Amino acid sequence: MPPFSPPVARSLPAVPPVLAGWLADAASLLLPVSCAGCGAPDHVVCPACRVELAPRLATVRAAPVPVPVVVALEYGGAVARVLSAVKEHGRTDALRLLAPAMRAALSRTPAGRGPTDVAIVTMPSARAAVRRRGYRPVDLLVQSAGHRVRRPAGLVLIRAIADQAGLSAAERHTNLRGAMRASETLRGRRVLLVDDVLTTGSTLAEGCRAVSERGGIVVGATCLARTAKRKEIEGK
Ligand SMILES: [Zn+2]
Repeated sequence: MPPFSPPVARSLPAVPPVLAGWLADAASLLLPVSCAGCGAPDHVVCPACRVELAPRLATVRAAPVPVPVVVALEYGGAVARVLSAVKEHGRTDALRLLAPAMRAALSRTPAGRGPTDVAIVTMPSARAAVRRRGYRPVDLLVQSAGHRVRRPAGLVLIRAIADQAGLSAAERHTNLRGAMRASETLRGRRVLLVDDVLTTGSTLAEGCRAVSERGGIVVGATCLARTAKRKEIEGK
């Protein structure tokens, strides 16, 4: 498993964003780079993609999930491309582009408001995907945002599931129902569920079911991005 390198920008906290951007752009003259969001040359992230990756927090309802879900971004464009780079192309360095949005979303949850007893539990990946990637993208996202993920894993998949892409909401629900098991260590614990993309909510719903079955209490959920406009409970 390749070690997770802390994002470069975070090692330079004293550098104002404008200057950091200028330094990155200046460095690109020596070492050519392209935008992780759109491929535009000479930018680590170009100004247009930077706007797309800026958090726009919303708290939404996803029908099968019994708790509100805090989301930071709309899935698509640069967000989808950067997430795909992280998940499918080993670009863990691009996590730093998503970290501010994940940090903002977590800050609005019960786990992000100062010292807390709330355990952050990420949605499990299929074992084959973890083997192929050598890392768990959602865990890295949470860590890049400066939070700790519950270990040992709070949730595991106990059977194979079909790829959710292309399934209807009902099919997703059936596909996932009963597929997860929560750790005994979550009994009596307050839990925040975290995933990368909110689509129908069936993944979070199954996580809630498994945690409740184990005697844990799901106090909230958050996703980096949502696939479509949803009814907002509370805007920014
Ligand atoms: Zn771009």
